[in-house]
Amino acid sequence: MTTTAPPGTDTLRARAGNALRRCGAPVPEAGPGGAAGGLAARTPLTGETLFTLPAASAEDTGRAVEEAAAAFREWRTVPAPRRGTVVKRLGELLTAHKEDLAELVTVEAGKIRSEALGEVQEMIDICEFAVGLSRQLYGRTMASERPGHRLSESWHPLGVVGVVSAFNFPVAVWSWNTAIALVCGDSVVWKPSELTPLTAMACDALLRRAAGDSGAPDGIHRLLLGGRECGGRLVDDPRVALVSATGSVRMGREVGPRVAARFGRCLLELGGNNGAVVTPAADLDLAVRGIVFSAAGTAGQRCTSLRRLIVHEDVADELTERIVRAYASLPVGDPFRDDTLVGPLISEQALDAMAKALEAAQADGGKLLTGGDRVLREQAPAAAYVRPAVVRMPAQTAVVREETFAPVLYVLTYRTLEEAIELHNGVPQGLSSSIFTRDQREAERFLAADGSDCGIANVNIGTSGAEIGGAFGGEKETGGGRESGSDAWRAYMRRATNTVNFSDELPLAQGVSFL
Ligand code: NAD
Repeated sequence: MTTTAPPGTDTLRARAGNALRRCGAPVPEAGPGGAAGGLAARTPLTGETLFTLPAASAEDTGRAVEEAAAAFREWRTVPAPRRGTVVKRLGELLTAHKEDLAELVTVEAGKIRSEALGEVQEMIDICEFAVGLSRQLYGRTMASERPGHRLSESWHPLGVVGVVSAFNFPVAVWSWNTAIALVCGDSVVWKPSELTPLTAMACDALLRRAAGDSGAPDGIHRLLLGGRECGGRLVDDPRVALVSATGSVRMGREVGPRVAARFGRCLLELGGNNGAVVTPAADLDLAVRGIVFSAAGTAGQRCTSLRRLIVHEDVADELTERIVRAYASLPVGDPFRDDTLVGPLISEQALDAMAKALEAAQADGGKLLTGGDRVLREQAPAAAYVRPAVVRMPAQTAVVREETFAPVLYVLTYRTLEEAIELHNGVPQGLSSSIFTRDQREAERFLAADGSDCGIANVNIGTSGAEIGGAFGGEKETGGGRESGSDAWRAYMRRATNTVNFSDELPLAQGVSFL
């Protein structure tokens, strides 16, 4: 298995600076150092700091929400198809700056180039979807039980949407929320991950330009750079009507009750612990490719990454052997190289978490079949490059039931499909799932009401790599939120039920008589 060293920090700083400049974002002057209390923009490629940025204060947060609230009052009265023109322009700018944004995603999140470009494509796709949606925010008309009455519902803009996002999809998750929120007539205040401020600055600059070009109020988008405390201030602000928060279950446990306490709305997209069932009727060639992409791709740092393989005992040995062989040829290292398939983990803490999980799995009787070893330690001592691991487990123990945000694939075996489904659903999270089989009865059983309990259930593809057209999200500890396509837009609007009496009588509902 080949490994390749990343470019040096100075080169990465120059690349990031140039990409920011081309997107029209301010380029931080200084390298490492800078103001105390500032936010370090670092790169996982070398583990070193590129720039130090000013973090948003409490005052900055209050001002951003105030400006977004003022813009909302104007924006909500602009007809939805006209609001769509801002998002159309944003899509054009994203297309023009696809390479620049992908460059920043690779520098800041460590994604390999093709996945970074894919993430930006996802932003372009959601803009196209939202532009179409701007002419399709349909309400229903219901049959009134009273003569001479019309009963219908209308959908209205909601208010300021606070978007809190995670490091691993530094731009796509923002775009899912923002493109939809804007056509719905909301304004947005974004608190990106403290690990990916540069990509956020580039997106903010492009959206400001789109707003200016389309004559939209400038305050429809505000960016707040900072850590958890900054996110906490946004979450607690009563002027924020909807908090859309993407990140760990730990974060959701803190944010959910705080928003609920002030009767705000919350859309939670939290951690997953995704499983794939492989039956004896599976096409194993296809299964191996789907599994390796889902489990080792993005260095196991997708919320939908495959973490648990639940395979029938008749095919377990053959499938596991083939996966281990495929893992042996995965090039790890510089994510800018076209032949690299596994980039760095985001931090040394992520590497520690992976090492601890592997230790716990082995203490539970698991057998490490491949991977788990750190590489490129000499070439990039502060970075966290690791070979993806596969562990054969005797049972679904506590460590398997947790989400470890790193490339660890646990292999479990089953005898009956009922047992496989029980194992599959026997974790606290409920994001993504899949079954590999050519037997339609097995596939339908997995998709049925008593099959997979996840928000996403696939057949003959892996757990990761969703399209924007569907609603994205999961159940149980994953938080229950839905973003992106289908009717997820409803979370960003408020519904009014309207009853109009166009008769000269006043019949009361349910036949009640009064006066
Ligand atoms: P994280 O929870 O550490 O941080 C996510 C965001 O929440 C960051 O912007 C952070 O500053 C903010 N935050 C953390 N605590 C907060 C608090 N108390 N109040 C307000 N804001 C707070 O997550 P991460 O390490 O950046 O991302 C990885 C996690 O995100 C994984 O668990 C992954 O599964 C999950 N994720 C889920 C989805 C999904 O759609 N379900 C998508 C991407 C990532």
